[in-house]
Amino acid sequence: MSDQNATTPTAQPWQGRYEHDLVPTFSTPPLLIERGEGAWVWDAEGERYLDFLGGIAVNSLGHAHPVLIEAVTRQVSRAAHISNLFASAPQLELAERLKRLTGAGDAGRVFFANSGTEANEAAFKLARLNRGDGSRSRIIALENAFHGRSMGALALTGKAYMREPFLPMVPGVEHIPATLEALEAAIDDAVAALFVEPIQGEAGVIELPEGFLSRAREVTQRHGALLIIDEVQTGAGRTGDWFAFQHEGITPDAITLAKGMAGGVPIGALVTFGAASQLFHTGQHGSTFGGNPLATAAAGAVLGEIENADLVGNARVRGEQLKQLIAGLDSPLVAGTRGRGLLVGIALAEPVAEQLVRAAREHGLLINATRPDSIRLAPPLIVGDAELTAFRERFGAALADVAAAPSTTAPTEKVNA
Ligand SMILES: *Cc1c(COP(=O)(O)O)cnc(C)c1O
Repeated sequence: MSDQNATTPTAQPWQGRYEHDLVPTFSTPPLLIERGEGAWVWDAEGERYLDFLGGIAVNSLGHAHPVLIEAVTRQVSRAAHISNLFASAPQLELAERLKRLTGAGDAGRVFFANSGTEANEAAFKLARLNRGDGSRSRIIALENAFHGRSMGALALTGKAYMREPFLPMVPGVEHIPATLEALEAAIDDAVAALFVEPIQGEAGVIELPEGFLSRAREVTQRHGALLIIDEVQTGAGRTGDWFAFQHEGITPDAITLAKGMAGGVPIGALVTFGAASQLFHTGQHGSTFGGNPLATAAAGAVLGEIENADLVGNARVRGEQLKQLIAGLDSPLVAGTRGRGLLVGIALAEPVAEQLVRAAREHGLLINATRPDSIRLAPPLIVGDAELTAFRERFGAALADVAAAPSTTAPTEKVNA
């Protein structure tokens, strides 16, 4: 496999078709993937790759997991979709399961959407409904946050270069640095909601400062603002807890979910806690596809398998092993690791992330550059000894290649969400 000229975008016929037929919102992909099994995928040439990105933290059970195959096959042969004018058993069961797993409990409520950005749109509307006496118009989010690409979620997203082409934004959103001081200065009685990712995945797997979430809970509670936690990337066991906020022992007013929840079948959810569950009224929000039997059956099966096989515990244990193994490679290019469970960021000593992604691919390993100086790993939650050993070999070889041939190309910021 010679991929040295990956900068030539039309190296393969299908890449020409991609560029000819698809809106160029994504850069031309390097591979045409045909199928997967477990933590492995195969491209159109029959090359095998270890998938340590997992469809960007989506493929919780890896590829072609029998539990997901069975659930989707069974449901699609009964009824894939019925509209929200009717109810289905998979939807009711999933709502109950989410209330139990999140700790939202009896008072909690669930709204189903089809993606992370849509879950955050629902949360944005929830925030607007928290009006108080009418003067609550401010919404606070964090700098560098990523909440999605639709207009409400984009307004929440703390990256100016993503927002600027699409100005004017939905009004009312302010971005603050992720510091306790900025938090305390920002929250007052005019704040309707604070949106926070427990770990900023797209920003490069950046953790919040120690104590940030518990302080956020205190100040939002004091001022009547909602604390809304975006668990789109961190949820469903990824970080070694069911949901990352649980690590801090706090109770939010709402969380949003999507990526890992249904193992690749599109779904999103807003889960409300306590009094926040009383804000939405009939007719105020909706979705044609949201919560349909197919997606909710898939999510029920995936979350059920995560629970039965204790993949949350596996994420915790394997995540630690993965970090140790990376440190053990002793590469001068690795400055350290970040993140929790199987959401791991690798800080690089030099801005060589793109070269490293390419070198890894040449050694049969899929990883992702969130920034010029950092790598994101989000392997399936099913990884074990064999996958970690294969990762060590392949990633070690890629690091050695890049260390031996440092790049001359200027790094560019790349975001694949
Ligand atoms: C990926 C992501 C989103 C957006 O999800 P989509 O399904 O791509 O719309 C929102 N928030 C966070 C934290 C994410 O990681």
